[in-house]
Amino acid sequence: QSLLLIWAAALVLVCAVAAFSFVRQQYWPVPAQEPEKRLENISRNAVLLGMIWGMAPLMVIPSAEPMGQMALGIILVGMMFSGAFLLGRIPQAAFSFVVPVAAFFILSLQFNYDPRNGYLSILTVLYLVMLGISIRWSHYQFVNQISTGEAVKQQSQLIGLLLKDFEESTSDWLWQTDEDGALAEIPMSIGTDKTEYSVMQKGLKLSDLFVENDAFNILHTCLERHQDFRDLALQVKNSEEDIWWSITGKPIYENGFFAGFRGVASDVTLSKASEDRIAYMAHYDELTGLPNRATLREALEKCVRRPLSPGNARAIVWLDLDKFKWVNDTLGHPAGDELLKTVAGRIQAIADKKDVIARLSGDEFALIVERPKRGNELTQFLDCLTAELGRTYEISGSTVTCSASAGVRIFDDGHHSAHELLKQADLALYYAKEQGRGGWALFEQHMQDEAQKRREIESDLRLALERDELVLHFQPLVDATTREMTSCESLIRWQHPTRGLVTPGHFIEYAEDCGLITQIGDWVIGAALKEAARLPSHVRVAINISPLQIHSSTLMTTIFSAIALHKVDPKRIELEITESVLMSDSDFTLKRLLQLKEMGFKIALDDFGTGFSSLSYLHSFPFDKIKIDKCFVDGIDSNEDSRKITVATLNLAKSLGLRCTAEGIESEEQAIFLRDHGCDDLQGYLFSKPVPVEQLSAFVELKPRPADVKARPETKAISA
Ligand code: C2E
Ligand code: CA
Ligand code: CA
Repeated sequence: QSLLLIWAAALVLVCAVAAFSFVRQQYWPVPAQEPEKRLENISRNAVLLGMIWGMAPLMVIPSAEPMGQMALGIILVGMMFSGAFLLGRIPQAAFSFVVPVAAFFILSLQFNYDPRNGYLSILTVLYLVMLGISIRWSHYQFVNQISTGEAVKQQSQLIGLLLKDFEESTSDWLWQTDEDGALAEIPMSIGTDKTEYSVMQKGLKLSDLFVENDAFNILHTCLERHQDFRDLALQVKNSEEDIWWSITGKPIYENGFFAGFRGVASDVTLSKASEDRIAYMAHYDELTGLPNRATLREALEKCVRRPLSPGNARAIVWLDLDKFKWVNDTLGHPAGDELLKTVAGRIQAIADKKDVIARLSGDEFALIVERPKRGNELTQFLDCLTAELGRTYEISGSTVTCSASAGVRIFDDGHHSAHELLKQADLALYYAKEQGRGGWALFEQHMQDEAQKRREIESDLRLALERDELVLHFQPLVDATTREMTSCESLIRWQHPTRGLVTPGHFIEYAEDCGLITQIGDWVIGAALKEAARLPSHVRVAINISPLQIHSSTLMTTIFSAIALHKVDPKRIELEITESVLMSDSDFTLKRLLQLKEMGFKIALDDFGTGFSSLSYLHSFPFDKIKIDKCFVDGIDSNEDSRKITVATLNLAKSLGLRCTAEGIESEEQAIFLRDHGCDDLQGYLFSKPVPVEQLSAFVELKPRPADVKARPETKAISA
């Protein structure tokens, strides 16, 4: 009994000491001990407690009733379990407690001579092993849990550091919303000192921050549908300046539930401004601020696909200023620019809001217009447009007249390509210009057919030179009195592989348009001089020179080398020019003509009387000869006026000391009339049509073809 009292007292004492140290630790914390030291303390206390609990069976079992023994056994088993459970995280302490209790219990069983005690001892050992395993397992779990927690902590620290680094080193920043789209705090983000965070205030709706535009609509849809979005350029609302942000974001999910959006944003105001500038330059004309050619094309393509409302007429109008080059050349480029701006302003002033107005290039503008058919509004608009642009302009202190011509292509729904429509409007513009400037012309199919023909002829003509398909015919000019051949005019023909012999009226104009005339002209000079060498020396040879050819850089060398090659006296060569040669750039032309005249060439004014002021040109250049045009000769038989003009012209020529030829003489009456009024030479079908040089043998004796100059193949077909 007294032993038990001592035991209980010892137990209470140990518990009291433990409780005291626990309380002391709570209220007066002592400096933390080393972990090993603490473990040692705990283990020592555990051993002490275990030994005290182990004492109990040693004292009680030998004298106790079987029921009491069993109760004590149960208590001890419970104590061992509790010890293992409570101290399981510190195996050392747990074993320090459990092992003494078990050892003393087995020992006490050995002192009591009951045959069942052997089994009980074995059971206790097994129980101890089980407890050992569970202590180990619980320790393992505990350690695992701690190390995982530590790793997570370390990771989040690292993420925090990276985020801080990101926010500090880039101009980008992070944002996050809750599931309702309201801005929330960004976990672990530190950089709230960025000014952008004052706009992205917590609680504000993300979608309320931006101005509505295309990108905003995408943002809105993505937020609604919980979809990712990338690099949306959005304009910030309520900012004094134009501020643009690029926003990227993706939805976040927590435990499978949508929890909002998270993403990055950056300020793209500067790059947006330069992008806008580039886009503007790609679509608008700098000078006038009007859409440019590319934009017009886009608009036209859209327009072609859009159905035309019934009762309306729609057209593309191609405008071209008639005298822009002149303004630019004489008043200077700034004046030219000013004129273009004024023109743009005038067009805008009379066009409808819905009309598309564009500057295509230089002095070319285009419009896409739609007007009600009733009241012919389109026609009225076009009249008004050309009239308005035809008014005088005040440019750099000078009054300038610079009309505009317009080509108009009316089009309805579908079946057209923008490219085709523009081309057709351009063709119509060409006709408008032909008809005299300052007006407009509607596109008609024949314009396209002619353009097509023109293209075909032009490409064939290039081949004609390569394939040597050009030939020269000669038409004799006879002395009006003796009817003897005095000279001949060389006239070009084209021996076309399928069309037969083509006369110059069908191709010279095209050759002039596409620039081939200089090459053709050079060929004519060579061929004419070659044949001139075969004609008697008293027979002169006339060569037609195109206005464009006069400006050719090869003209002079071609003439000189042909003269030298064929040994022809320049005095025998007459160069026929029309007054249009003198109309443009007359200084240069006059110089050239004088140069040729000094060399001995004769210069004749062709088609006299058909131009605007043939008489005035007689003063501007010392011509050797004039050729009265066929239209006056035609009228000699029937028209008194023609007769008077012809007589007056002949008198004028005589008074100026010029030789005079009349062209296109088909009747004997014409020939006699002209002879009687002093005309020197006569040319016309009455005497001969233009023929290959061989056939001139009917008029004069031909020299044989020189052996060293290669002969051209004879042409068979002859037609005028
Ligand atoms: P052009 O210089 O006035 O030539 C006279 C034209 O009148 C020639 O037409 C000739 O065949 C035609 N003719 C002459 N007599 C009569 C007649 O009695 N009745 C009729 N109905 N016609 C007559 P062609 O050969 O067709 O030449 C037409 C124009 O082509 C020429 O007019 C000339 O301007 C140009 N041309 C001809 N050959 C050349 C050339 O080698 N170079 C250049 N640049 N132009 C040329
Ligand atoms: Ca001629
Ligand atoms: Ca002529």
